[in-house]
Amino acid sequence: MQTYRPDRVVVESGSEDSVIFDNLRSALPDVPFVTVPDPQRYWTERDGAADPISRGKRDLLLMRHKGRFLKACPGSDGQVCCNYFIINFASNCPMDCSYCYLQDYLAENPALKVFSNVDDLLAETRDLLAKHRGFLFRIGTGEITDSLALEPLIGFAAATVPFFAEQPNALLELKTKSDHVDGLLGLDPKDRVVVSWSMNPQAVIDADEGLTASLEERLDAAWRCQQAGYKLGFHFDPMVEYPGWEEDYRDLLHRIFTRLDHRRMAWTSMGVLRTTPSLKRVMRRRFPATRILSGEQVPCLDGKMRYFQPLRVAMYRKMRHWIRDAAPLVPIYLCMETREVWDRVFGYFPSCGKELGNELVGTV
Ligand code: SF4
Repeated sequence: MQTYRPDRVVVESGSEDSVIFDNLRSALPDVPFVTVPDPQRYWTERDGAADPISRGKRDLLLMRHKGRFLKACPGSDGQVCCNYFIINFASNCPMDCSYCYLQDYLAENPALKVFSNVDDLLAETRDLLAKHRGFLFRIGTGEITDSLALEPLIGFAAATVPFFAEQPNALLELKTKSDHVDGLLGLDPKDRVVVSWSMNPQAVIDADEGLTASLEERLDAAWRCQQAGYKLGFHFDPMVEYPGWEEDYRDLLHRIFTRLDHRRMAWTSMGVLRTTPSLKRVMRRRFPATRILSGEQVPCLDGKMRYFQPLRVAMYRKMRHWIRDAAPLVPIYLCMETREVWDRVFGYFPSCGKELGNELVGTV
């Protein structure tokens, strides 16, 4: 896939002494850099656009993050939580999936940003891990951005893998739809870093995952990471139901498990397409040709809309069966699903998020 190239980099005064700035400068020698006291304000005051989400992806803002970097994953009301923590090193994403919830979640603040104070991020993480040595933290960086989409420009993951490799009670997950793994390959993750991919059949990638890596490129990147010593994860999320989905998802699983060693996979997860009424409005405006919304969805207790429960259960059961056939021991969990659905798919549900989180960390 092509590396993202912004039209302009807007830098907050004082962020020029960061490693991210140096990396951006060397990766983008012919892109204009503007230094201003307040990049957010500067960006907001520029010309408006009919589609602020698309405009938000054109400039890249480099600024300090003033709040806390680490937080517990908010999960979703009434759904089984997997006890996950999030580091927000960036906000928004240069890729453009039709179903991306960030289009709605960041609607008021869609500028693509990277935070320059990586030292503060690592210090905060170090403090938290030191205070709770008896707790195993599963930490991801892909909640409000893609973990690796900007990696060739910013080198953030490459700068943090050595830190996490030395932590006795944390596991870092880098979750992506890109194939930007070159910067990771020479590092030693010491089994503390999982590189994971959101996977869908090529038909879904073509129709609804704009500017992302192809299935073959994701598989190739995963293979290279596995060869370099990383554990892998695969997230079948969002699973999309359409005529022929079974053949396509079965083929997808076949390609993953014949190409890659399932004994060095940390986990897989499944979750069906989730929307909200406001996200649907944005999707219809920005992606009028998408057919992803043609399947019926019903409102759930957490305010999100999903396929009708019997259809979800049937989809998860089939996927579980196909994954188990190919990889009997790889952990499988559900993302943002109720205990009832868990029970109908697996015959049990985790008693609490801590139990599920510890099960997953314990497998690595
Ligand atoms: S890759 Fe993820 S974060 Fe980026 S646009 Fe797609 S869904 Fe959103």
